[in-house]
Amino acid sequence: MSAELKKKYYHIITYGCQMNVADSQTLAGCLEDSGFTATEEEEQAELIIVNTCSVREKAEERAFGRLGDLRRLKKDGRKLNIVVVGCMAQRLGARIIERIPHVDLVLGTDRMFDLPEILAHKDTVPEVHTAFGHENLDDAPAIRDTPFSAYLTITRGCNNYCTFCIVPFVRGREKYHPTEHLVRQASELAADGVIELTLLGQNVNSYRDGEVDFPGLIKRIADETDIQRIRYTSPHPKDLSIRLIELHANEPKVMPHVHLPIQSGSDRILQKMARPYLYRHYRNIVKKLREATPHIAISTDAIVGFPTETEADFQMTLDAFEESQFDSAFMFHYSEREGTRAHKEIKDDIPRELKIERLERLIAMQKKISYNKNQFELGKIQDTLVDGFSRRDRSVLKGKTPGGKTALFAGDESLIGKVIQVKISQADSWTLHGSVYNGRDGYRPLGFFQPEVGSTSVKVDSKVPSSRVSSNAISSSIREALGEQ
Ligand code: SF4
Repeated sequence: MSAELKKKYYHIITYGCQMNVADSQTLAGCLEDSGFTATEEEEQAELIIVNTCSVREKAEERAFGRLGDLRRLKKDGRKLNIVVVGCMAQRLGARIIERIPHVDLVLGTDRMFDLPEILAHKDTVPEVHTAFGHENLDDAPAIRDTPFSAYLTITRGCNNYCTFCIVPFVRGREKYHPTEHLVRQASELAADGVIELTLLGQNVNSYRDGEVDFPGLIKRIADETDIQRIRYTSPHPKDLSIRLIELHANEPKVMPHVHLPIQSGSDRILQKMARPYLYRHYRNIVKKLREATPHIAISTDAIVGFPTETEADFQMTLDAFEESQFDSAFMFHYSEREGTRAHKEIKDDIPRELKIERLERLIAMQKKISYNKNQFELGKIQDTLVDGFSRRDRSVLKGKTPGGKTALFAGDESLIGKVIQVKISQADSWTLHGSVYNGRDGYRPLGFFQPEVGSTSVKVDSKVPSSRVSSNAISSSIREALGEQ
């Protein structure tokens, strides 16, 4: 038998957030360490893994649809293990096999990296493993999509229990990777050609390992490794400290972009969401970020139509968007999510049509704000990490500016993976357009392109409970950021 025939091929299908993408890359590393080889062809694979998301019902239904479709690959009796991992696996467990009987294995969020070991001992009976406390936090070498950018998961889980969110129930309590381990991983990634590193965590800025907090970790990576650009997502306003704001201003490796979920502009709704800040706190953090780093880009997440949201509450969100002038936003209308606190405690009393109408109004407002914000980029020269081709035109390259915006420009394929200067000549609500800047102003502007990426996408979420936020619940970091006692 040839070596080619002996190969064990795997294929991973990933849904959901950057954390899931990072998990899939780590899982790929675990599998390749165990002798598996990646394939893009589902028909060639003897192991297909579907890494799932539970944040939205739509995401779960898409995963179920895909799993149902995989049945065709088992029809000829071919040896194939279909494995479901991630948040939906954690949330539904054996219910997945009840609905899709040709699934062989369900692994929850703390068990997914045990896949090679479980496969080695598995017989033909479907199995479900969803116990918490097994996750291996040690390094597994991730298989990255690009050689020049990488994710580094620094925390897992979340202690916040926002009432609309399923994450704490499917990812468990917060766990932090050791600082020494992370700095070493970052150093190895830099040696391997990584230019831009994105630190990941559900509540990334609550990181702590002994005396090292989140700004401390960033500083160590900046000082002790050759990583050139550092990003992170997603921070919680309650943990956004003055030191982090100062780091943006003083550490050139920290990119000038913060994705800071606001969720609502109404204090009453924020309380029902169990978000431990008031709008004035959020507004002051934005103000301080911009005072410290005037060119910083700020993006956000917001949910409209949360239970009990009145027109006046919604107007406060519109006002907050108007005042905050976000560069971009992910906006969703609320939908019930089984298993969340809101689902158990609060009646979803806003009609769907009204939710959609409010969402459309917010998206329309943000589209204009994004357009106006992007006009300020015209004529600027941006250090852009070239990360590939435009999806629509392979003669056009795309890259990420320091502010995290997508820039399109004509250029040679050899530029991919490099940080180059791009002079911005046109901008719409979603994308910047420009040309490679060679130190003189005779640059060649490109024609107008259609938007490349829709950052104002529509997402869903869950329900609301009757939680309260007393002034005592306002975090000390927020008080510090405001100069309050
Ligand atoms: S929305 Fe709230 S509960 Fe969900 S991951 Fe973010 S901070 Fe945690």
